[in-house]
Amino acid sequence: MIEKIKNDLLWLAFTNHCPYCGSLLGKDEKLCKNCLENLPVIKGERCTFCGAGKDRCSCKKHRLKYDGVIAPFYYEDGVCECIRRLKFRGKDFAAYTLAKDMAECVEKEYGGIGFDFITFVPFSLRQKAQRPYNQSELLAQELSSFTKIPLKNCLVKLYDSSTQHETEKNKRRGNVFGIYDVKNGADVRNKTVLLVDDIKTTGATLSECAVILKIRGAKAVYCVTAAVSAKKKKNST
Ligand SMILES: [Zn+2]
Ligand SMILES: [Zn+2]
Repeated sequence: MIEKIKNDLLWLAFTNHCPYCGSLLGKDEKLCKNCLENLPVIKGERCTFCGAGKDRCSCKKHRLKYDGVIAPFYYEDGVCECIRRLKFRGKDFAAYTLAKDMAECVEKEYGGIGFDFITFVPFSLRQKAQRPYNQSELLAQELSSFTKIPLKNCLVKLYDSSTQHETEKNKRRGNVFGIYDVKNGADVRNKTVLLVDDIKTTGATLSECAVILKIRGAKAVYCVTAAVSAKKKKNST
């Protein structure tokens, strides 16, 4: 932990980059002008079924198996670059920056819910071998230190579904357990869980994880991601 704080301070002392897009900043700037003006912040009342603002919700309250999803941003503009950096160069400030925004969002939208623990969408063994780290785990770690909600690494991804089509086929065959499971020995019974991922697109992944957590006894599963994708309003550019 001390080591990490030291690294963070070094990063702050010797570089001055926009934490979202990575562009170089002037001496006292904390955010580049472009991000300051154009970050796709989700404002106003939100739809917790799809995570978009009510003005951009088009989910028609399609029921997914989690109890809610929120995010500070739409998956657009500078946030795409920030998440890309998170995936491929996770050691920079992207995880810290995004998790801080996610923590504010959790405080504001989920403030009254007493979470027992935070967990994250896991990697399969193959993904673990291919990638140095899981970006959702990084976000969950940072979020845990901001919110003081304990982190519990309790999900496993049993295999990679090659396509959405195959997952659907499996489901039709009655394979409700899908590709995720709760780790052996992890007790989630009666727990209220905060589930973390980097991006929510259709919500299928979060829903799959929520299903298995609930099958294993979790009371409720609320999701938070760094960004959600949503259709742009027709009259916007
Ligand atoms: Zn920027
Ligand atoms: Zn919606």
